[in-house]
Amino acid sequence: MNPTPRDEHAPYDSDALLHGWLSDSPQNPSSTRYVRVDAAAIADADLGIIQHATLVLERMESGVVVSYSGTTQALPDPFLDPSIPVLTLSHHILMPALVNAHTHLDLTHIGPLSHEPDDGFVQWVNTIRTNRATDEDHIKRCVRLGIEYSLAGGVIAVGDIAGAPNGRLTESPARTLASSPLMGVSYLEFFGIGKSAPRAVERISSYLRDHAPELMRSLEATGIRFGLQPHATNTIDLGVYRWVALAAKARGLPVSTHLGETPEEREFIASASGPQRDMLEELGVWDDSILRSIGGGKHPIEHLEPALKIHPMLVAHVNDATDHGIEILAEARASVAYCPRASAYFGAATHFGPHRYRDMVEAGVNVCLGTDSIVNLDTPDRISTLDDMRLLWSQGDHDTIRLIAMGTRHGAFALGLDPDRFSLKTDAHPAGIIAVECAGSDVHTNPWAGAMRSKSAPTWVFRAT
Ligand SMILES: [Zn+2]
Repeated sequence: MNPTPRDEHAPYDSDALLHGWLSDSPQNPSSTRYVRVDAAAIADADLGIIQHATLVLERMESGVVVSYSGTTQALPDPFLDPSIPVLTLSHHILMPALVNAHTHLDLTHIGPLSHEPDDGFVQWVNTIRTNRATDEDHIKRCVRLGIEYSLAGGVIAVGDIAGAPNGRLTESPARTLASSPLMGVSYLEFFGIGKSAPRAVERISSYLRDHAPELMRSLEATGIRFGLQPHATNTIDLGVYRWVALAAKARGLPVSTHLGETPEEREFIASASGPQRDMLEELGVWDDSILRSIGGGKHPIEHLEPALKIHPMLVAHVNDATDHGIEILAEARASVAYCPRASAYFGAATHFGPHRYRDMVEAGVNVCLGTDSIVNLDTPDRISTLDDMRLLWSQGDHDTIRLIAMGTRHGAFALGLDPDRFSLKTDAHPAGIIAVECAGSDVHTNPWAGAMRSKSAPTWVFRAT
C-alpha cells in the first residue's frame, strides 16, 4: 500500500472547532477575547473528571490561556457575559491534546498487518525491513501520513523513531516533523553489535560532529528536538550503549531504546542463543566479543543498567519486567513508554504475564503511553494513545487520573516537554484541547466511561500550533 499522495508543501489544515476564533488577530478590537466551551465533562490528570463542565479560554499574545476550568454551575459572573461566544459540546468530554511517546511514523504507509503470535518476532522484523521506505521522498511522505494520522487521533506530541533504511542514517523524519504542528523528539535510530559495533560508534560520532549541529540549528523553535535511538539490547552492544549515553549526556540529547520487549530478547541476553543470535549470524555481524556482556544469565534491564545509570532514557515496551528491573528503572530515572496495543498484538502477556505498568508507577517510574507503529494498531485511519487508554480501560483499569496522566503529562515529561502544557487547569497554556464523544447514555452518568467505550476519533477544539 502506498501513502496517499500529498503535496509536500501543503500546510496541515486545522479543522479545530475554534479555528476561526483563533485565526482572528488578538489586536482586532472587534474580535472577542474570550470563548466559552460547555461540555459533558472535563477529563484531566490534574483536575480529574469534572461533570457538566465549562472551560473559558482567553486569547493572549502569548497564546491561549485557560481562564476558567470547572463546573458550569460555578462559572463566575463575568464569564456569563452574553457577548462571549459559547461552543456547546453536550455529548463530549474535553481533554488536553495527547502525547504518543513511542511511534514509528515512517512505517505508516504499511498500514495495519495481521500477525500470529506463533510467527515470532524475528519474522515480523524481517517483514518490516522489507516494506520500509528507503528513498528520502518516500520516507517524507510516510512521515507526513503519520503526522496526519496522529493529528486525526488528537495527538500533538510524539517520540518518533527515525528508522535507518538499509542501515543508513536519515534526517528526513526530523525535518518533516519540524514543518508540522507536532512537537516532541525525533530519535535517530541505529544498530551496532559484534562486528558492526566499532563502525556504529564511528558513524554516530562523526554524525554528531559534522551533521547534527546543523540539524539542531534548523530545528530551533520548531518544537522538535533531535535525539538518539540505539535500537534494542539485542542489536546494540553494551559498550555502544555506554558510549551513546555519555555522548548524549555531554550534549544534553534525549535517548530512547527498545527494552524488555520479547521472549527472544530475554533468551538472547541471558544465554546468547535463540532466534536473535541466528539473525545476527545470518547478517554476518556475530562475533564472540558479544559474549563479554551477553550470555551471563542477566535480565535485559539488568544488562542495560550500566548505561541507564549514565543518562536517563526513555525505554519502550518493557513487557518483561522483574521486581529488580523495576527498581533499576526507578533509580535510573528512566521513563517507560508502554504500548498496550503493541503488547497485545505480540501476545506479550502470554510470555510475561500482565504488563507491570501499575507496579512501575508505584515504584516511582514515569510511565507514559506509546502506540508503536500503525502496523500493530486496530485503527487504520489514526495513530492515537487515546485508543490505548481505551484498551486499558476495557481491561479493567479504571484509575482515570493515572490513565490520563500516562497519555498526557507523563509523556510530555518523558519527551522533555513542559507537562503543564498538557493540562486544562486554570492559567494553563495548553498545547491543544480535544473533544471525545461519549457513547450512549453514559454521557449523563459516567462521561469518562462513555468516552472510553466510544470508538470514535477525537475532534480538535483548538491547537496552539
Ligand atoms: Zn518501536
